[in-house]
Amino acid sequence: MFETAIAGSLPKPDWLAEPEKLWPRWKSEGESLRKAKADATLLWIKLQEDAGLDIIGDGEQARQHFVHGFVEQVSGIDFENKVTMGIRNNRYDAQVPQVTGAIGLPGRVHAFESRLLRAHTARKIKFTLPGPMTIVDTVADRYYGDRASLAMAFAELLNQEALALREDGVDIIQFDEPAFNVYMRDAADWGVRALERAAQGLTRAASPGVRACKTAVHICYGYGIKANTDWKQTLGQQWRQYEQVFPALAASSIAQVSLECYHSQVPPELMALLEGKEVLVGVIDVASDAIETPEQVAATIEGALRFVPAAKLLACTNCGLAPMGRDTAVHKLRALGLGAALARERFGTA
Ligand code: ZN
Repeated sequence: MFETAIAGSLPKPDWLAEPEKLWPRWKSEGESLRKAKADATLLWIKLQEDAGLDIIGDGEQARQHFVHGFVEQVSGIDFENKVTMGIRNNRYDAQVPQVTGAIGLPGRVHAFESRLLRAHTARKIKFTLPGPMTIVDTVADRYYGDRASLAMAFAELLNQEALALREDGVDIIQFDEPAFNVYMRDAADWGVRALERAAQGLTRAASPGVRACKTAVHICYGYGIKANTDWKQTLGQQWRQYEQVFPALAASSIAQVSLECYHSQVPPELMALLEGKEVLVGVIDVASDAIETPEQVAATIEGALRFVPAAKLLACTNCGLAPMGRDTAVHKLRALGLGAALARERFGTA
């Protein structure tokens, strides 16, 4: 009950990449960089286990950014000539690659990290991939001319990698779709359809020895960077974006939904729209360095229990911790583990 997990990313140690940056530069290259990525992944596996987390991730140590880590391996994309583009409905500018032809995936993207993760923890593992709609919002399209078609094309490639991750022994594959909270109508229209295409077949056991895996989607109000905290100021007293997207997700085949809760203006009753789904409730704020107390975490879980059955409630971070200080992140992981343990003591019915 109340299994714990991170949303996805964790800070990169300062010997791996520039700290506290969303698109950090690597500190080494070639084989040294590869080893440094592996070392950082192992470090975070250990720290997540020490914090008592039930579901372990790779902390996205091997990718520069949660979207571009995947896109870098896709053909038909010009990564050399990036352009500046306003993303998330022009909330902030990013340097994005250009789609210049039909896209394809010539090989594996994340085999290195997923196999490393599987080999070094006996706990359940979750692996994150960017969702198709969010990828479309983080590249400049010069070829497809239509966001829904491009999303479907990316969804096929994501599915190819996701099926391979299942073979690697990944238990949960999560697609990150912060764009769902920005383009709500499109999300309900074609975003969820593209997401389901990306997740197609994952819940079936492929062959003896290859387990089925669970599917998840993470939807948030973004990393704790200034552009996002400024944007949140404009959203008013009640953030009701989820209200437009959750009914489509509830009707979808995706098993788990990860959402932002603690310190947000999301009306908690919106979680009731996800009836039947497992809900990863955000109990850790990523926009503040203040460390949550176990009491605060347990109180957030208690509040969510009014709308989500205990058996379907997991405790999670609101979003990734990538741009945060490393020590702060370690303390927040501990708060997550301790707070969920406290909630089990108080509200556990088993
Ligand atoms: Zn997020």
